[in-house]
Amino acid sequence: MLIIYSLIAVLVFSIFGVLVLNNYKSKQIKNEEIRLFQTANIVADTYKGNMEDIIFARIMVKSYGKQANARILVVDANKKVLIDNYNSYIGKTLDNDEIKSSLKGKSKSGLYNIEQKNVLQLSVPITMNTGLETKVIGAVLISASMESIYSDIENLKKDILKISSFALTISIVLTAIATNSITKPLRNLSYGVKRIASGDLGYKVNKGSRDEIGQLVDSFNNMSHRLYSIEKNRKDFINSISHELKTPLTSIRALIESLSIGNNDLETYDEYLMDIYEETKRMEDLVNYLMGSLKLEDIILDINKEDIGQIIDETVKLMEPYAEKNNVKLQLNNEVKGIVVKCDKNRVKEVLINLIDNSIKYKDEKKNYHFISIIGRNNGDNITLIIEDNGLGIKKEDLTNLFERGFRVLEGHVPNDKSIAGYGIGLALVKNIIDKHGWSISAKSTISQGSTFTITIPV
Ligand code: ADP
Repeated sequence: MLIIYSLIAVLVFSIFGVLVLNNYKSKQIKNEEIRLFQTANIVADTYKGNMEDIIFARIMVKSYGKQANARILVVDANKKVLIDNYNSYIGKTLDNDEIKSSLKGKSKSGLYNIEQKNVLQLSVPITMNTGLETKVIGAVLISASMESIYSDIENLKKDILKISSFALTISIVLTAIATNSITKPLRNLSYGVKRIASGDLGYKVNKGSRDEIGQLVDSFNNMSHRLYSIEKNRKDFINSISHELKTPLTSIRALIESLSIGNNDLETYDEYLMDIYEETKRMEDLVNYLMGSLKLEDIILDINKEDIGQIIDETVKLMEPYAEKNNVKLQLNNEVKGIVVKCDKNRVKEVLINLIDNSIKYKDEKKNYHFISIIGRNNGDNITLIIEDNGLGIKKEDLTNLFERGFRVLEGHVPNDKSIAGYGIGLALVKNIIDKHGWSISAKSTISQGSTFTITIPV
C-alpha cells in the first residue's frame, strides 16, 4: 500500500516537474526570439539608412550586437556578407535556410545544436520601396547562444528535484503514519477476531480513537462480552441441570441400595418404591421442562382481538391464592379495561404469570410486607403493563443478561440455589413471547428494594 502511494506521489511530482520546465523553456526561448527579431528589424532599418556610409553602419551593428549579446550579419541580395560584428565572415557567401527565406521576403527562425551548444538563428529581409515595388536588397542574420536559458533550466531542474524529493520524503513519512494509524486498530481487531475464534470469548480490543473504527471496536467489544455471557450462562445452565438430575439419581441409588440390603417388609418396599417414584417424577418434570425450553423459538401465536384489561384481571385472579399463600399482597391498578389489542391471550397470561411468579419467588424474606403492584396504563400512543415488586432486586450488571435463556442469579442475594426452583427459562420465554407480538419489555431493579418489569404495547 505504502509503495503504491509513494509511486503515485513520484509520478505526480515528475509529470508536474516536466510540465513546468517545458513551459518555462519554451516561454523563455519565445521571449528571446521576439527580442532578437526586434533587434534584427532595427539593424535592417539602420543598414538601409546608412547604406552609403558602410563604416558607420558597421559601427552601429557592432554596438547592437554587443547589446543583444549576439552575432549579427548583414548580407546583400547575393548572400554576400557585408557586415559582421565579429568581422570574420565579411566577403563570404552564406547560404542557410534563414537567409534563403529572408531573401524571398519572409523572416525565419530556427533552433540549432551546433557543437553541443544550443543556438537560436533568425533572419529578416532588408526591403527597399522603389515606389512601384518593394524589393529585397539583403537580409539581417542574427545568431545567439541559448546556453544561459538552458543552464537556467538545468538549475531549475535541480531545484525541482530537490523540492520533489523533500516533498516525497515528507509524503512517505506522513502516509506511513496515516496508514499505520488506520491499519493498527484494524490489525488489533483482526487479532481479536482470531482470539474469539480460538475460544477466548470476552477478549477486549483497546479502543484507540472515537471515529468509525473506534465505534467498530466498541461493537466488537460488546459482541465479545455478549458471547462471553452467553457461554457462561450456557455452562451455568448445564451445571444446574446436571445438579438437578444428579440429586434424584443419587437418592434413587441410595434407596435401591437400602432395599437390596437385608429382608425388608412389604410396607418398607412400598414406602421406598413411592420415594423412587417421586424422584423419577421430578426427573421427568425436569426433562419436560428442558424440552419445552428448547422449543422456545417454535412458539406459534394464536392472535385474536382481546380485551387486555380482562386478561390482566383474569391472571391476577388466578395468581391471588398462590400469592396469599406466600404472604404476598397483589395490588391491581387496571386502567386498560375494555381496550382491545391483537394478541395471543393464553401466551400473554403466561407472560404475566411468569413475572408475578418470579416476584413471589424472589421476595425479600427480611421484609415484613411483600407486595406486587400490577398496573395496566393507557398512555395514548401505547399501553404499558407494569409488574413491580419490593423483592430482592437484581444487580445492575445482571440486568443485561436477564432475558437470556438459562440465566439465573444464584450467588449473592439469593440465599440458596436449591431453595428456589427454576432453570432460568422463565424470562427467556417471556421475552420470546413479547418479541413475537412485536411488543417490548424492559427491566429496572435496585438490589434490596425491588424490581419493575414494563411491557410496552404499541397501539
Ligand atoms: P428462574 O426463575 O427459573 O431462575 P427466570 O428466567 O424466570 O428463571 O429468571 C432469571 C433470574 O432473574 C432468576 O434466577 C432471578 O435471579 C432473577 N429474577 C427474575 N425475576 C426477578 C424478580 N422479580 N426479583 C428478583 N430477581 C428476579
